[in-house]
Amino acid sequence: MIIVMGKEADANNVKAVIEKIKSAGLKAFISEGEFVTIIGVVGDVTKLKKGEFERMDGVDRIVAVMKPYKQASRDFHPKNSVIEVDGVKIGGEKITIAAGPCAIESEEFLFSIAESVKKSGAEIFRASAYKPRSSPYDFQGMGEKGLKMLKKVKEETGLVVETEVMDTRNVELVAKYVDILRVGARNMQNFDLLKEVGKVSKPVILKNGISATISEFLMAAEYIMSEGNHEVILCYRGIRTHEPAVRNSMDILAIPLLKANTHLPVIVDPSHAAGNFRFIEATSRAAIAAGADGLLVEVHCNPEKAMCDGKQSLTTQKFDSLMKNLKAVAAAVDRKM
Ligand code: PEP
Ligand code: MN
Repeated sequence: MIIVMGKEADANNVKAVIEKIKSAGLKAFISEGEFVTIIGVVGDVTKLKKGEFERMDGVDRIVAVMKPYKQASRDFHPKNSVIEVDGVKIGGEKITIAAGPCAIESEEFLFSIAESVKKSGAEIFRASAYKPRSSPYDFQGMGEKGLKMLKKVKEETGLVVETEVMDTRNVELVAKYVDILRVGARNMQNFDLLKEVGKVSKPVILKNGISATISEFLMAAEYIMSEGNHEVILCYRGIRTHEPAVRNSMDILAIPLLKANTHLPVIVDPSHAAGNFRFIEATSRAAIAAGADGLLVEVHCNPEKAMCDGKQSLTTQKFDSLMKNLKAVAAAVDRKM
């Protein structure tokens, strides 16, 4: 439920409401708007006495939140959440681009790709040290050795770095080396992992599962938020459909749907959707036009030699031209790039 304070409510009125919520053993979340303050209540609201808040000074009205997700919901927090990491904002006016190789393969490749994507305008560097591969015989990632390389990339280039965490046992370790943790599609409903990253004080990029509904996706975000970590960035990477011509189907409608239902930033991964470098630009243009706050793109300096996902990786040159071409799309929807 949410408590909407009246325009005339002062800080003491807000404080009194919050104290009442807490004394009932529930949690309160404040969202200050331009004109009114909204207080979200999370927990078993049946514990509250009927009519308890209506009569309090400054309270305008009580609204029930029907959606199963609360803290992730736009009802709780009408304004867009902007997540900031080392001066890089995600969810603001500017389109934020994360780019880099699927996997960390060698220090030489890693630095060459990082320097190049930075020059092209990427602000976040993506690269995985732990790889969720369909086959146990395929390259599984470099582990902590890779994480150390990623940290070095950050130190030497100043890029914000992100990587996937797959195992609850590695959350603390991964958080030690990178700025942003990523939970991949295969783990979107790994509730133990979601709770664990929810205890970390670093932002989390959460990707949708290949068959997840919008509501299940937002409930996964709710899991992270319910542990205290509100810095969740949703990454839509398409879903599996009957269509075999693409790796995944990019449901463009998912973007405005997510934006309508949540205040969290929404970025799009065109690479794992298309599965083919030839379609990355069209998918990226569509995503930005539909309201995405950013992109997560796979880029490699030598895609033919990439240890995974080379087929869908852009060359550094193609990434550079993508960045130039997207500026006009961003401007058309009043976004900066
Ligand atoms: C990735 O981004 O490297 C990845 C494995 O993607 P997804 O989890 O979306 O399949
Ligand atoms: Mn990949």
